[in-house]
Amino acid sequence: MKWGFLPKDTGKPVYLAVNSDESEPATFKDRYILVRDPHMLIEGIIICSYAIGSHDTYIYIRGEYTTQVKVLQAAIDEAYDAGYLGDKVAGHDFKLNVTVHRGAGAYVCGEETALLESIEGKKGQPRSKPPFPAVAGLYDSPTIINNVQSIASLPFIIENGADAYRKYGTEKSPGTHLFGISGHVEKPGMYELPLGLPLLEVIDKVAGGVWKGRKLKGIIPGGSSTPVLTPEEAKTVTLDYESMAEHKTMFGSGGIVVLDETVDMVKLVQNLIYFYHHESCGQCTPCREGLGWMLKIINKIVAGKGRLSDVELLRELCDNIEMKTVCVLSAACTMPVRSYLDKFRHEFEACVAGENGSKQETEQEER
Ligand code: SF4
Repeated sequence: MKWGFLPKDTGKPVYLAVNSDESEPATFKDRYILVRDPHMLIEGIIICSYAIGSHDTYIYIRGEYTTQVKVLQAAIDEAYDAGYLGDKVAGHDFKLNVTVHRGAGAYVCGEETALLESIEGKKGQPRSKPPFPAVAGLYDSPTIINNVQSIASLPFIIENGADAYRKYGTEKSPGTHLFGISGHVEKPGMYELPLGLPLLEVIDKVAGGVWKGRKLKGIIPGGSSTPVLTPEEAKTVTLDYESMAEHKTMFGSGGIVVLDETVDMVKLVQNLIYFYHHESCGQCTPCREGLGWMLKIINKIVAGKGRLSDVELLRELCDNIEMKTVCVLSAACTMPVRSYLDKFRHEFEACVAGENGSKQETEQEER
């Protein structure tokens, strides 16, 4: 859909940027593609570039993905040697160069405009939108930014037709998706599944169910920034965009985390806030300062020094920070935190009442 927003005849070059920053906790699908089938991605890049009239692609890859960089670069070199990249792609009058750009380990560079700033050699901070990248992206030129999985799905569609792709999934969420299932399951792993399958069935039949015979406590459906689902809610959730939205959560990255009955939701929230506060780029006050205050409050609660009013304050901060910032990083923290506070409130209340034995200093607090 993004491709349709490209303005025509601007006289500027058109760029393709492949987002392979993949820093969302619990997400590991792109690195799987990069290592297992980098040529599928390169083929997708060629198809996309030809369709949008682009002659330069940048693959922005997470800095920590050292193995993936090596495998991907070797595949790109092979593609140049075989004539599939370069001045005459597959012998045709079409030029295409592909450059791998390594990030420096900032989560926020997965945000598409921060990614563009980083490629341009600037500080990786998100831009205010509009203009959107399709109009003024890399070097102020029209730019399409897609992630690895989207681009890698193109060869199948071109070879087999859109109808073949639509045979999988639901009407509104067609196709398959890579689901990284982790946490407390018997068979964690990467599974390619059609969209629309019942979430609990996938956890039980595909991932072997909750491990060690324990009970299910919650499910993070699509990476750490997605609101948690209770076991009761999960009964009616299917793995597609519409069902997730109906249940007031998000499909996200497809990184499903299963939480068993032993998980301390208060400490989980502490860990979550620590991560997003650490990754804030600092240009918006509600994000920079607000997440800092959230961290101070949750640390106080975990240390057993909190009051009921601190739990309320944490909840209030979620509402006050969200949607008041340049990018959605702050919401990536507040949306899930709000869900834990609302759905597992009793655990926070027990913690401030000193009933869960979690009064010890924590690693985050010591920092
Ligand atoms: S919301 Fe946070 S990460 Fe995003 S631009 Fe503002 S300060 Fe930076």
